[in-house]
Order: sequence, then C-alpha cells, then structure tokens
Amino acid sequence: MDRDRILLTPGPLTTTLRTKLAMLKDWGSWDADFNAVTASLRSRLLDVVHGQQTHVVVPLQGSGTFSVEAAVATVVPHDGHVLVLDNGAYCKRAARLSQMMGRQVSVLAFGEDEAVSAAALDERLATSPGITHVILIHCETGTGVENPLVEVAAVCERHGKGLIVDAMSSFGALPIDARSVRFDALIAASGKCLEGVPGMGFVLLRQAILDSCAGRSQSLAMDLHDQHVYMGKTGQWRFTPPTHVVAALSEAVTQYVEEGGQPARLARYADNCRTLIDGMAALGFRPLLRAELQAPIIVTFHAPAHPAYDFRRFYEGAKARGFMLYPGKLTQVETFRV
Ligand SMILES: *Cc1c(COP(=O)(O)O)cnc(C)c1O
Repeated sequence: MDRDRILLTPGPLTTTLRTKLAMLKDWGSWDADFNAVTASLRSRLLDVVHGQQTHVVVPLQGSGTFSVEAAVATVVPHDGHVLVLDNGAYCKRAARLSQMMGRQVSVLAFGEDEAVSAAALDERLATSPGITHVILIHCETGTGVENPLVEVAAVCERHGKGLIVDAMSSFGALPIDARSVRFDALIAASGKCLEGVPGMGFVLLRQAILDSCAGRSQSLAMDLHDQHVYMGKTGQWRFTPPTHVVAALSEAVTQYVEEGGQPARLARYADNCRTLIDGMAALGFRPLLRAELQAPIIVTFHAPAHPAYDFRRFYEGAKARGFMLYPGKLTQVETFRV
C-alpha cells in the first residue's frame, strides 16, 4: 500500500496530512506557547455551538468515556437521580458509569431501531419528581440513530431538570445551538467529527451551574470544576496534557473553520452517507434504520443472509482493498457499521 488505509470507523478516523504534521513538534506543557494553543482551541470549540455567552469548555485527558464520566461526576450531586434515555449501547454505558459512581439511576428504554421520545420523557418526569438530571445520547453511535436533542432539552427545561448530552459522535456535524437549547453539560472528543486524533475529550458546562459543581466530583483526576478553575488561574492543564493531541485538534479545527464549519461538514457527511446507502443498496445491502432516523454519521447495515457470510472474512477483504469497516454493536441482529 502506498497510502494509509481509509478508516470507515466513527473515530479514530482518517485525518488529513496537515493534522498529522501538526504532531511533529514537541511542546512544553507549562509553556506560554502551548497555553496559547489550549486557549485558542477552547474558544473555537465554544464557537462551534455558539456557546461563548452561556457556557465554558473544559478539556480533559483520555478517551471520550473519561469525559462522560467526568461530566456526570462533576454535575450530578451525590444524592442526585439520573434518568438515562436508552436506545443503544452508549446509553447503557452512560447508565452503568453513573451507577458505578454511586448516583441513583433510572432508565427509560426504547427500541434500538427507534429514536428516544421527548413525549415519553415528559410523561415520566411528570410522575417521577425525584429525578434531577436526564442523560441523552445525541447520536447513538451503536446504531446511528439521531435523537431529538431540541425537543428533549425543551422538556427538561420545562420540568426544571438538568440535561447532560453525550454529543460525542455528533459535535461539529449536527447543529447544536447553546443559545436556544439549554443543557448543563455537553460532551464530545477530539477524534470524531472534528477529525482530530483520539486522546482528549471536552465538556461544555453551563455557566449558571458552575459554582454548584465545586467539590462534587469524588475523583481528583476527573473533576472538571477543578480543571476549569486551575486553567482559569494558570492557563495550564492540571495534569500532563496530551500535547500532540491538542496541537492536532487545534489544526483540525482550523481546517474545520476553513471548510465552512458545521453546515459544510454536515453537507459533506450527508452527501457521503447518501452515496454509501445508495451504493450499498445497489449491492443488495439493507440499512437497519428507517431513513428519517438515520444521522449521516454512521450507518448500520444488516449482514447478508447468505450462509457463507462471515464478518471477519468480509472485514479482511475490505481491509486488503484499503478500507477499514466497523463491527455491529447489536445483540439481536447481525450487522456491521460504516
Ligand atoms: C465514541 C463515543 C463515546 C466515547 O467512546 P470512547 O471509546 O471512550 O472514545 C461515547 N459516546 C458516544 C455516543 C460515542 O460515539
């Protein structure tokens, strides 16, 4: 192969040469030059969702799940009660990590091939006054469903509940407007739709709830309030930052803005998604989801019914031709994802 294989996976994904080249420099983690990269990156991440007036953004070392865990620990009080809107694998992960951190957790379950329902949430909140926070996965990467963020946020606001949004696989591609959609925390990461390399996440925290978050986290390393306060004072990360990952994400965001930001990225992904689904249909592959539920980010296909089909062989065949696929994440039906 004279070029890297193309990653048709939701992250890590194929990065541009410019993004790769941004990692060829070493940075001092305490140095003013690196602090300037962090500050500029934080500001531009807020711009993506128009959050300059309403939110702060706190970066955190680690994969995306670290930031989900940190957001729940920082935002939900120890005696809080979390309701998880569950239509897939990442929802179940959010419920599990909330429970493991000692928060009371309830689950409102939906089918994996449907979106979660704001009306069902409305009913549940009306009869369960003890719930303090709702967790929504914006795009459920396990299947590719887009969940109704705007409607869910409106229901949470009407009932006076906090909302935590895992926007890991949607941030930067699907529109999110912090000026009109109220959320307490929204989580994303470097290696998905912003097209950086994996290694850090970040959480947008609503300014109005920041003070109440002090001292809530039972974890030292995952305390986003402390990370925010320390960064405000020193411009530095509390513990060793993933310097090369930060530099690569900064360069990736520069290209994101040059491309035309969120509308341009959504248009490119939507175009790719249409090409993919149409081309696969011509080959006889059926997507799992009805078209109106499908986010243009990751598509789940049914495995072919042919008795000779074997995902490993299919995967190796595609890999030999330069493309990396993703296994399915459903328990009931055999699928794969692109
Ligand atoms: C990728 C992803 C995560 C984080 O997964 P990591 O493996 O920790 O990076 C969380 N939620 C969703 C919806 C995701 O797509």
